[in-house]
Amino acid sequence: KETDLNEMIEGIIKRLLPLAQEKKIFIHYEKERDVVAMADEMKLTLAIANLVDNAIKYTPENGSVVINLDADHQNAFISVADTGIGIPDTEVGRIFERFYRVDKTRDRETGGTGLGLSITHSTIMMHNGSIKVYSKEEEGTTILVRIPIRQSVL
Ligand code: ATP
Ligand code: MG
Repeated sequence: KETDLNEMIEGIIKRLLPLAQEKKIFIHYEKERDVVAMADEMKLTLAIANLVDNAIKYTPENGSVVINLDADHQNAFISVADTGIGIPDTEVGRIFERFYRVDKTRDRETGGTGLGLSITHSTIMMHNGSIKVYSKEEEGTTILVRIPIRQSVL
């Protein structure tokens, strides 16, 4: 289905804004251009919302989350960057596994099941896209998602 990614992201931000405001986290959204992609809208919305939810959850008070939407002729690019606790190099390879949570976050009061990123990963794979993680402990995390704009299968 044709999915307006700008509208999708604005909807996600609107829904998660109370969570961010509670922690005084500033959400900044930058849209380079309008992008319409053939996608499973419900699944993709959940996939990107998981990333924004994590960015808010794993960022201390007064931090910031920057979301960017861009595209070229073939692909849409969505990035979610935070100024949070980061992910140790030794754990980055495992965060897409089901139920995997990094030690430091495992018994935080901000509970979770460890399923979010595995769902995000499989949805992006289903869209023939890719997902990359750049992270530094105590500095923050950036997750970059690419999905082809035109999908014959969806
Ligand atoms: P759920 O999403 O099911 O509520 P969760 O957030 O713990 O639980 P995932 O979203 O799959 O699970 O993330 C897996 C783990 O990766 C998290 O527990 C956390 O340790 C780490 N992680 C994910 N995103 C970030 C981030 N933006 N900054 C720091 N750590 C992160
Ligand atoms: Mg999560």
